Amino acid sequence: MPDQNSLINLQYQFSIVNDLKIEIKKLKEKISDNSQIIETDQLMQPVTEKFHSLSVSKRQQETILGDLEANQKKLKEKMFDGSISNEKEFSAIEDEIKQNELKISKCQDSVLAILDESDKYENALDQANKKLTKLKNDKQIQDQIDTELIKKYESELAKEQVLLEMEIKNNDQISINLFNKIASQNSYIAVSEVNNDRCGACKILIPKSKINQIKENNDFVICDSCPVILCMKGK
Ligand SMILES: [Zn+2]
Repeated sequence: MPDQNSLINLQYQFSIVNDLKIEIKKLKEKISDNSQIIETDQLMQPVTEKFHSLSVSKRQQETILGDLEANQKKLKEKMFDGSISNEKEFSAIEDEIKQNELKISKCQDSVLAILDESDKYENALDQANKKLTKLKNDKQIQDQIDTELIKKYESELAKEQVLLEMEIKNNDQISINLFNKIASQNSYIAVSEVNNDRCGACKILIPKSKINQIKENNDFVICDSCPVILCMKGK
């Protein structure tokens, strides 16, 4: 003869313990989830790379510009150091200076354009870094709150588990075996109390004949639509 009261109490305590375990597991998963930070970091990668490649281009152009300017200075010095002996040579250097002037001007434009673009990427990186820092700070604060909550739940769980052990002792071994078998296959629900002739778990209307079987209490009565043991208080 099943002890329906004890089964109802067992299910009640079993659910409390399992709910706490699920909450603790969820919180631990939440703490170990860094996907948002990783995602933001990954989104920044191409911007960072572009910014660095612009810095390299800028340095290269500046080197070229430096060489051109040094060369230009030499050419101008040569024009007036008395080493030129004829008009032809003089006009050749004059031409070279003009050509060089054009190259310098082009190179300066190119450095300015790179600086312009570089500024845009630097601003974007600044914004993204601020966002990333905020995400990390917020997560740290939330993790502290969640860690405290886990501690609280774990201490509650220890107490509730003692109560569960007591409820297990109040049931016979056959009941416990059946309970465990159904609970493991049915999301931790093995017993439901009958309410207004309906299964407390799936809410289906229980036929009169089955209600009578529950009341007679000769054996376990299983719901027709879900696999739970149907119980009534006082049985
Ligand atoms: Zn049911």
